Amino acid sequence: MELSLLRQGVTTMLSGNCGSGPLFADSAAMHPHPWINLHYLAGNCVLRHASGQTDRYAPATPRQRQAMRDLLGESMRLGAMGLSLGLEYEPGATFEEISGLARVVAEFGGFISVHTRFDDDRCVEGIREVIELSRVYGVRVEISHLASMTAFHTDECLEAIDAATGEGLRVTFDSYPYDAFCTNVGSAVFDDGFASRWRGKGPECLEAASGRFRGQWLNWDTFAEMRREEPDGQIIAHIMEQDEVERCVAHPDCMIGSDSYYQGEGAHPRLSGTFPRALRILRRHGYGWNDALKKVTAMPADALQIDAGRIYAGASADIAVFDPDSFTDRATYKEPFMPPMGMKLVIVNGNAVLDNGEISGVPSGELRR
Ligand SMILES: [Zn+2]
Repeated sequence: MELSLLRQGVTTMLSGNCGSGPLFADSAAMHPHPWINLHYLAGNCVLRHASGQTDRYAPATPRQRQAMRDLLGESMRLGAMGLSLGLEYEPGATFEEISGLARVVAEFGGFISVHTRFDDDRCVEGIREVIELSRVYGVRVEISHLASMTAFHTDECLEAIDAATGEGLRVTFDSYPYDAFCTNVGSAVFDDGFASRWRGKGPECLEAASGRFRGQWLNWDTFAEMRREEPDGQIIAHIMEQDEVERCVAHPDCMIGSDSYYQGEGAHPRLSGTFPRALRILRRHGYGWNDALKKVTAMPADALQIDAGRIYAGASADIAVFDPDSFTDRATYKEPFMPPMGMKLVIVNGNAVLDNGEISGVPSGELRR
């Protein structure tokens, strides 16, 4: 995964989003020699399971909530940058439960990234919930992959965020530039009744990205079989509308984030194409190069409060050099690992790790604490 990002010019990755972040001690062991710089978030889904709550629809007990807060504090002490919430994945995580976690994050001066609770007609309600979290605890809240959660209601959600930032709340957001999302078939996203959520878009809008049905559009029978036999298998859900996604990406406050992950052989093209594709869309929407590049460099670096994203004497030597005329994504739903064209040179911590489009150096990233 790191190499797919590196080939797009990515030099720093924030991992552990959407509630999935491991306990920090585990993440340190997983990445002895990363290619790019890594920051980690602790994930509430992992914290819930570690505290003994394995029913995603059940609220954690007071004892489990205490265990989650203790584990989060431990990860923050070891170097996690904050907390990620996967509220759609663990509907049992009540506002009370996440409030206790937000207090811990606030104590450490971290931030919270959120995969919001609803991706259907209730999405504005989901956005308001996390705005409230920022209001009450004073923490920065990052709404993850906004456009993928707000199909048919993106403008309304952007207005709610604009109103919150207008009030001075620290609410930020990111998006990826594709009109399909991707997640595990066994997750709560596809629990009973899912087909009524997206204006009647059912299994015929779902494409298997891994396993036995890889590359096939599903029907009720193959969907049920995949869910039963390969619950960790990935589904690409062709739900959103491209115009709406582009309006989100082109919003002046929207940062670009890939939301990429992959298990085994399956992936969504966002893994290999997000950044060149987003830049191309921004240029088409009238952005000059500097303003477009800010959304993948200085804006996220400032949000994370890390020394990155700008070139000046003494800055971290994390630099990507590309040909603006040819820098283009080539990854597709059929070939999600195709690297982009036009990336010439990538320097991580002063070492050239990609030269003329080819990986040329040794892993030069660091796990950041
Ligand atoms: Zn997510």
